[in-house]
Amino acid sequence: MSDDIRQFKCARCNCALEAFPDAKPEPRAACPKCGEGDTIDNVVREIGDHMMEQLAQGLNQTFTEAARTSKNVKFTPTFKPKGGHRFIVDRESH
Ligand SMILES: [Zn+2]
Repeated sequence: MSDDIRQFKCARCNCALEAFPDAKPEPRAACPKCGEGDTIDNVVREIGDHMMEQLAQGLNQTFTEAARTSKNVKFTPTFKPKGGHRFIVDRESH
């Protein structure tokens, strides 16, 4: 588990989360900088949401390209996740 969580990061600090597998009542993960944390279950769930949004972001970029050719389509190129995720997964380290 601690290996898996190494790529999990605090969205605010872009800092790798620290895992506390022995925490009570549930294993936790938290940002060593700002202390933002949650149970590992919740962190994993939020990471999953974030990954889905990254997929959506890929689609958004496709739409942005398409929108460039049309004045009638208004599209904001900068993708802003609506959920404001606290935790993200660092996929660039792979
Ligand atoms: Zn943080």
